[in-house]
Amino acid sequence: MSDSKRPDSPVVVIGAGPAGLMAAEVLARAGMAVQIMDAMPSPGRKFLMAGRGGLNLTHSEPLDRFIGRYGVASPWMGPLIQRFPPQALRDWCEGLGISTFTGSSGRVFPDSFKASILLRAWLRRLDGMGVVLNRGWRWGGWHADGSLLFTDPTGARQAVSAAATILALGGASWPRLGSDGSWAALLARHDISLAGFQPSNCGVVCGWSETFRQKAAGLPLKRIALSMDGVRSRGELVITDQGLEGGALYALTPGLRRALAEGRDDGLMLDLQPDRSVEQVAALLGRLSTSDSLSNRLRKALSLGPPVATLLRELAPPAAVVSASALATAIKGLPVPVRALQGLERAISSAGGVCLDQLDDRLMLRRLPGLFCCGEMLDWEAPTGGYLLQGCFATGVAAGQGALDWLAEQSAR
Ligand SMILES: Cc1cc2nc3c(=O)[nH]c(=O)nc-3n(C[C@H](O)[C@H](O)[C@H](O)COP(=O)(O)OP(=O)(O)OC[C@H]3O[C@@H](n4cnc5c(N)ncnc54)[C@H](O)[C@@H]3O)c2cc1C
Repeated sequence: MSDSKRPDSPVVVIGAGPAGLMAAEVLARAGMAVQIMDAMPSPGRKFLMAGRGGLNLTHSEPLDRFIGRYGVASPWMGPLIQRFPPQALRDWCEGLGISTFTGSSGRVFPDSFKASILLRAWLRRLDGMGVVLNRGWRWGGWHADGSLLFTDPTGARQAVSAAATILALGGASWPRLGSDGSWAALLARHDISLAGFQPSNCGVVCGWSETFRQKAAGLPLKRIALSMDGVRSRGELVITDQGLEGGALYALTPGLRRALAEGRDDGLMLDLQPDRSVEQVAALLGRLSTSDSLSNRLRKALSLGPPVATLLRELAPPAAVVSASALATAIKGLPVPVRALQGLERAISSAGGVCLDQLDDRLMLRRLPGLFCCGEMLDWEAPTGGYLLQGCFATGVAAGQGALDWLAEQSAR
């Protein structure tokens, strides 16, 4: 856009998570004046939290399989991911001076493993591009004249005019990091359809007995597999006070949520020996006397530690832990009764948010021209593995580009 056609007001990006920062970068690169506003005193708090155990930026699997990870949102997310695919994200990191590597699972990480180094370099670059970051500015809707209303860090109300606005307000998990979903009420007032927030990539509540809770809370279950409605997921779990937590559960969240809505609590199956068949497990157990204790048989025959015996006593019927074949069947397919998903407070992400049919293909709200949305505030979900951040970055690029196209169209009128 030439200088004479550049709008007088800045483009305002609300939300300084990965989606908002990416949209701001696209706009600033095109020469736009960009103001970022965030309610928190510092930007990217959830992004920094994501980096605590190693920042999994994206995944290296083939693109069609990658896009399939967005489940029912795949047809909508696919074209956006294709416009900013995993390799583009890796190249973008390189441009910040941050190399990436592919782990043995195919997941992609920055060399440093950390989000803080990447975020620092990114903020420095945005600052150099003239992007202004306003910390502690909470968005609270619109003034009657259409300007954006904020509460500034002193508590004063401020009206800000914007040539176009990008909302990148995040989902509703880990609300203490800033994305608390309270923006949903502001959009609902303007008849924007929203799907209710639901925890995603989260633990489950199982309703353990008191004895089991006292004995087992905190114990790990290693190298296990879970299956639910035909989806199988391998990994680890931790037995918690309330239920189970861990990576192996996350890919199953949509199925678990569906089952709970249908009143089913019996769909989740735990395989404690995923690398052996029932017959192999039964043969190994059959070599030992059934008079030996359950813990000893599991340890000697299968190298399974005490948490497994404790879990079998809790979940398997007493008859199942006697004969080798019945025990093998229980070990290979232990039904786990799930009462509920754990809450949004500790879920890695949330499902729900702005319904995708509310947006045009520039990610502009059809009902509110000039207002674009991106990131986790949109109603898509994906498992852990880098798909969440890739989705946020790709929609951030699309919203930034969408705003540029719309502004160009407006100035040509
Ligand atoms: C523990 C944990 C680990 C994770 N690990 C990974 C991982 O390894 N890989 C991966 O892909 N994903 C991971 N994620 C998910 C990932 O961090 C999020 O999907 C991503 O940060 C969402 O980006 P976003 O920009 O849409 O929103 P957010 O990062 O949530 O940013 C939204 C911003 O909007 C601001 N905001 C909200 N409301 C207002 C308002 N009214 N006014 C002004 N500002 C407002 C918030 O303060 C916040 O800064 C993890 C998440 C958690 C919690």
